[in-house]
Amino acid sequence: MSSQQSSKKKGNHPARFHYEFAGPYLGPLGMIIGLPVITFLYSKYCTDQGWPVPSLTLEDLTPQKILSEFIASFKMEVFMVYVAYWLYQAALYFVLPGIKGKGIKLSDGSQLEYPFNGLLSSLVTLTIVLGIHFTDFFNGKYNLDWIADNYLPLTTATVVFSVAQAIFLYAYSFSGKKLLAVGGNSGNYLYDFFIGRELNPRVFGLDLKYFNELRPGLLQWGIYNIAFAYKQSKLSPNGLPDAWMILVVIFESYYILDAVMNEPAILTTMDITTDGFGWMLSFGDLAWVPCLYSLQARYLSTRYHSLSTFTDFLYLAMVIVLGVLGMIIFRGANSQKDQYKRDPNHPSVKKLETIQTQHKPLLVGGWWGKARHINYLGDWLMSISWSLPCGFGSPLPYFYPVYFAVLLVHRDMRDEEKCAAKYGKAWQEYCRRVKYRIIPYIY
Ligand code: NDP
Repeated sequence: MSSQQSSKKKGNHPARFHYEFAGPYLGPLGMIIGLPVITFLYSKYCTDQGWPVPSLTLEDLTPQKILSEFIASFKMEVFMVYVAYWLYQAALYFVLPGIKGKGIKLSDGSQLEYPFNGLLSSLVTLTIVLGIHFTDFFNGKYNLDWIADNYLPLTTATVVFSVAQAIFLYAYSFSGKKLLAVGGNSGNYLYDFFIGRELNPRVFGLDLKYFNELRPGLLQWGIYNIAFAYKQSKLSPNGLPDAWMILVVIFESYYILDAVMNEPAILTTMDITTDGFGWMLSFGDLAWVPCLYSLQARYLSTRYHSLSTFTDFLYLAMVIVLGVLGMIIFRGANSQKDQYKRDPNHPSVKKLETIQTQHKPLLVGGWWGKARHINYLGDWLMSISWSLPCGFGSPLPYFYPVYFAVLLVHRDMRDEEKCAAKYGKAWQEYCRRVKYRIIPYIY
């Protein structure tokens, strides 16, 4: 959503400044305050006692009360455990083996190198987390129960850490000669802090944006899910989580694994190529993703519900079909485009119809002939299938698909704008031939 546009040249960074997210003040300020508040309220008032807890009153939602409860939920020990976890992930980035690959050519002609060891890093971390749990390594202290029980102070730790990182990133972007993000170089302090000023901040060789995108937060989401499944299994007569929990954990683990297994593909996404690294991605990657994306498993962790009726089985089957359909569309579309970009003569893509452009051709056949962001549809269908296992006792576990629909529609608008500027007439031709944005025949 662009609220204002102007063109100017800043320092040696030619930039077309373009305020997004209802910037420069309203949107950024609203998100910098509003998103941590949502994250905190979910963690504090959706608990084993209820979603929301029955004792919640309007008084609890006043700014003073939220702030005082937020401060009270900070636990130094938990914060230090989180910092250790983040640093440990950073250490794995350097020490684990993995091939290296280059990102796209940057506007200054350079090309950065990245390690592709995210999958190995996730597997090693998971082994260690489970190892600590099953061997009671710290006398039971940091096992899966501890993670589930300390969810609220962990949320607070991620919020504090992500904001501290964003402040660091903003200050760091002024040190030395840096390549700035075109959209984060406006000169408006608040907006640049929010959207991210420097394109690829690196500290001692650690590419902070690339690292944050796929490692600490994403994996924390997976660890939370396992901790909540373990918690639920204690309610079960057979010591196993119920089918709903197993489904949520499998579906969401697939998503996390898919992201880290396709780590090189992130190098061509908007987040890496275009956006700077500031509050938005720092908070999103470290606090929002683990806290809000694990809602379903957290909701289910205190509700054991075995499959007993025919309706239960039918409902479960429908959820599985929906989730698998989403996966097929999501992975099919993303892989098709990725394959085409890497090798247009590959047998799986060489017969697809394309439109010639002054850059690489645009796919107009296959998945990309169904809707211009058909991959978003697959992603959204998956998000619904993650919440449906929670049933209809509370609307609150459905936050993720609702928020995600807003994110994807907005992201589609940003990308359409980018592609229209990049491809010109060829993009118009693509829009003429493929009329729908995300959902064929509907939108
Ligand atoms: P896309 O993977 O859809 O990439 C868009 C880019 O692809 C365009 O900018 C253009 O880039 C290129 N492109 C678009 N149309 C065509 C075409 N017809 N033929 C060839 N190239 C085309 O965008 P995202 O980076 O937004 O999303 C990647 C995935 O990540 C999606 O599946 C999305 O759902 C998911 N996602 C998940 C989020 C989450 O929180 N769970 C958040 C955001 C995204 P160019 O031509 O310049 O290469």
